[in-house]
Amino acid sequence: MRTFTALTCLLLLAACATNPVTGRREVALMSERQEIAIGRDMHPKLLQAYGEYADPALQAYVQGIGDRLAAVSHRSNLIYRFTVVDSDQVNAFALPGGYIYITRGLLAYLGSEAELAGVLGHEIGHVTARHAVRQYTAATAAQLGMTLGGIFVPGMGSNVAQNVMGVLGQALLSGYGREHELESDGLGAQYLAQAGYDPQAILGVLRALKAQGDYATARATAEGREPQTYHGLFATHPDEDTRLKEVLAKASFLAPDTPADDGRMAYLRRIDGLVYGDSAEQGIRRENRFYHRDLDFALAFPAGWRLDNRPDRLLAIAPGGTAQAQLTSQDLNQRITPREFMIQRLGIRNPSGEEIAPAGLPGYSAPLKLQGRPGRVSVIFHRKQAYILASAALDGADPAAVDAAMRQAALSFHPLREDEKPLAEPLRLRLYTAKAGDRFAGLARASRLTGDAEAQLRLLNGAYPTGEPVAGQVLKRVK
Ligand SMILES: [Zn+2]
Repeated sequence: MRTFTALTCLLLLAACATNPVTGRREVALMSERQEIAIGRDMHPKLLQAYGEYADPALQAYVQGIGDRLAAVSHRSNLIYRFTVVDSDQVNAFALPGGYIYITRGLLAYLGSEAELAGVLGHEIGHVTARHAVRQYTAATAAQLGMTLGGIFVPGMGSNVAQNVMGVLGQALLSGYGREHELESDGLGAQYLAQAGYDPQAILGVLRALKAQGDYATARATAEGREPQTYHGLFATHPDEDTRLKEVLAKASFLAPDTPADDGRMAYLRRIDGLVYGDSAEQGIRRENRFYHRDLDFALAFPAGWRLDNRPDRLLAIAPGGTAQAQLTSQDLNQRITPREFMIQRLGIRNPSGEEIAPAGLPGYSAPLKLQGRPGRVSVIFHRKQAYILASAALDGADPAAVDAAMRQAALSFHPLREDEKPLAEPLRLRLYTAKAGDRFAGLARASRLTGDAEAQLRLLNGAYPTGEPVAGQVLKRVK
């Protein structure tokens, strides 16, 4: 059925169009009108799923840089929107029709205005060369419309964000394949040069991303999980990529003889105070504990568990991956008991557990099988939300021990106490001028960063893996 539908759409949508970049006529799967409509429809949904980063001055700054590049691009007839999204993932992406996004996670790793322009120019390149359209199948387009039709509950608890990630994930979030990426680098470099920046700034961006990717991969491998990297296509180091260098050299002919200042200080001053890591709106992880300012709760998982903060859920993973738990929330709009919620809303038949009252809140907790594995589901009501903590013991776990630990985690759920409120506030980047003798190891000790603070500070300052501060250099610290 699905195949048949896809084929029909494909025939309906296929039309010949002129590619704005190459000027060649080619078969496009959708018209410009359809392309722009997809961007327009999806933009608000994407903002709902990710959240816009709440700093109007920074948003205006990014839009301003983007506008300068868009004005010299091949599709200056589009009205481009540039949005900083509230995500600590390191990424940038474009929707068809000129909607471009950069995460605050990526902003943190950039070192100058020219590098920011490099990222935006690259994404404009995806739009002007119509990469999304060229790669879309009609099935994808139809799927987009369907999966985004749902309702998203801000904070946590819906699966729309997951669907946005799932559907876009194929191309928009993870890149378009080597040929299209290279084409976008070339277009970005060209727009940079024409807007008065040094096109080599693209190389700076790619170096930062490569270092970030190397670090993320090393950490993920050490923790036995899949790494996530921006456009994950760095088989070779950008400095050794001859095709990339050719593309950038070509754009250099368009650059002014003396490119404008790279805007390092202007950029750093703009991101002074930028949220780093989890934001208060998404909830803050502190080792095995989680604090959510806006939803007003905290809970603790067993010591040593790793927390993964997704837009729609909080995942907790036992050391070695032997057990997993996830916390989600659903809107509570009926006067029912937590046990009735389990039956009616979660579809669990005859749960045989116990009433619980963490911090005096109404709750119910029951052991049960989840996909054939020994698990436990606990439901806790707090402020018109039902929180659902579901866990399962996997291979190599002691199911009884996991079960006891998950019952304990449910019992640890409580409204934020006064003394915990500072813990629900995020870390922020702060500028600092290095003194003679400063070392990243010392700065790391003075930082609130957890985990490998020294490596993170090096990455933030373009000094990964072994660089050290130079006296007088303006650095990003994390406070
Ligand atoms: Zn790209």
